[in-house]
Amino acid sequence: MSITHLGTGSRGNATLLSSGSSHVLIDQGFSGVQLEKRLNMLDVAPSQLEGIIVTHHHSDHGGGALIAQKRWNIPIFANHRTTAELGLLHEYTHTFEPLDVLEFGNGISLLPVPVPHSGADNVGLIASHGGERSAIISDLGSWTDELVHHVRGCQHIAIEANYDRQRLLYGPYPSSLKDRISSRGGHLSNAQTGSFLNQVCTDATRTITLMHLSETNNAPHLAESTVLFAIDEVFEGDINISLQDGPQFSHFIGRRDGDGFATNAIQRILRELP
Ligand SMILES: [Zn+2]
Ligand SMILES: [Zn+2]
Repeated sequence: MSITHLGTGSRGNATLLSSGSSHVLIDQGFSGVQLEKRLNMLDVAPSQLEGIIVTHHHSDHGGGALIAQKRWNIPIFANHRTTAELGLLHEYTHTFEPLDVLEFGNGISLLPVPVPHSGADNVGLIASHGGERSAIISDLGSWTDELVHHVRGCQHIAIEANYDRQRLLYGPYPSSLKDRISSRGGHLSNAQTGSFLNQVCTDATRTITLMHLSETNNAPHLAESTVLFAIDEVFEGDINISLQDGPQFSHFIGRRDGDGFATNAIQRILRELP
């Protein structure tokens, strides 16, 4: 199974999981046109999506979900709060409870795990394929023991590193917004992400992707160096950073179409967003 972020950040999020002819999207925070363009770079059409799992209703994650239902009749999977907040169409919506396993074609399965994010009922996702697991988690101000339990030992972990503490503190945001971002229901700072990863990385963890970086309060070199410092003792694999204008690369877990286990080689995407 391949995992490809079409883009992550406060201007839109979507991540494509593909196994053979099965394609599943996590979040749809883009316009219909943008989604189509970005999928097109991976030779996938929106109508080929088996489903879209929406983590929570904030517009950068769910703002394009209704468009996807209306334009391409794509089934949406979301919890009750997210379904209600986004006004999703009942005939194309499947609601799930925390920890319900969602099964898709060609062995893709997803487990939604609740995460603390104020004003929303957000979930992180553990994607499984061929006995291997990948965590995809963003928009959380803190974490629970339950989340640690499910992420620990994943072969691949994609997680937000939203802000650098100093940049947020001395940056241009009003103090009420600074407080909200850094609260327990806000977003993870680079240092918090490092500390979480320190708890969940094991010898099985091969790759990490940092995502949903703030363009105002963070920079790729700050996120990477802060996280690397925190996980120096427990992780020897590769770290990549997913930016707003993807897709930039794919990771692989589980089985690769027909040819045994994935090597987890990272594959760069060379085409540019038109
Ligand atoms: Zn977000
Ligand atoms: Zn959010």
